[in-house]
Amino acid sequence: MLNFTVGPVMSAEDILEVANHSTPYFRTPEFSALMLENENLMLEFLHAPAQSRCVFLTSSGTGAMESLVMNVLNAQDKVLVINGGSFGQRFVELCALHCKNFTEIKLPFGRALKQEHLEPYAGQGYTALLVNMHETSSGVLYNMPMIAAFCRKNRILLLVDAISAFLADKLDMEALGAAAVITGSQKALAVQPGISVVALSPAALARVEENPELCMYLSLKEALVNGVRGQTPFTPAVTTLLQIHKRLTSIRESGGVEAEQRRISAVANHFRCGIQDLPLEQFSESPSNAVTALRPAKQNAKEIFRILKDEYQIWICPNGGIWADSVFRVGHIGFITEHDNSTLIHALHDLRQREIL
Ligand SMILES: *Cc1c(COP(=O)(O)O)cnc(C)c1O
Repeated sequence: MLNFTVGPVMSAEDILEVANHSTPYFRTPEFSALMLENENLMLEFLHAPAQSRCVFLTSSGTGAMESLVMNVLNAQDKVLVINGGSFGQRFVELCALHCKNFTEIKLPFGRALKQEHLEPYAGQGYTALLVNMHETSSGVLYNMPMIAAFCRKNRILLLVDAISAFLADKLDMEALGAAAVITGSQKALAVQPGISVVALSPAALARVEENPELCMYLSLKEALVNGVRGQTPFTPAVTTLLQIHKRLTSIRESGGVEAEQRRISAVANHFRCGIQDLPLEQFSESPSNAVTALRPAKQNAKEIFRILKDEYQIWICPNGGIWADSVFRVGHIGFITEHDNSTLIHALHDLRQREIL
């Protein structure tokens, strides 16, 4: 199958090879050394400020989202949540579940966040802001410099879910003044699912230190203490961590994070140029390089997904809920090339010929 979803995505051969062995024992100096390198490479690639730390949780990305809500936020916080789709909605539900004092800024699906959406909340005593840098459900990449300036001016702690943006879109934790940035293994890191990554600036570390413990498994305090010696409190997804190490070192060897971003951006642009003569409307404002959300003229997105899967061995990414028939997405992350794009574009032309598209 050719996989154009947004995760899990296809992995390179050398990454697949890592998983082709029994899981090694991990309470060893060798594994600790590898984990310390993972932490340093992540902090370097995120442009994290000095004295930042990074931990690896054995969970899907949602575990990292929940860990931020439980460990970095506290009962005194007044929180703003940007809600432009299902991942923004997930932050809203996490804040409600954990009884945070929060306000959501709800955006129409597929639309960008504008200064006028933020302005009413200036000078209102808000202390933290949660945002999914790329709202993967709609494909919108938010204007992070604008959000960062708002947070800086109003002394608001900026917490960024960059789960699908890391490696795909420009991300500089220090320039944004972000207190925390999270990502996950199965998006542009393009390895197996199972690990989420949490990077914390000194400001966020101080909060984790001071806040009461609310949870054992997702405790960032425990993860940080164990991380000092390159270990985790509980058995981690060892193989996924080995794959992350392989992937991070190979990114470093092939030009670094900027080169990887340029590669993903080129794959996205190649696809977007290639579909211009098809009856597919690019759905979202300010799209991320990670994904293109498309609206087919015949409003049969679910059907297109099924036919590409069953007859062409291609997975595109369906949308859920009320958008299931009107929108589908095509991912540009993972081990995917312009040649793969051409295979999909060819299949879409075939659907056009068959009057399905
Ligand atoms: C994929 C993703 C998540 C996490 O999803 P999981 O299924 O829990 O890994 C969170 N936020 C964004 C923006 C994502 O793209």
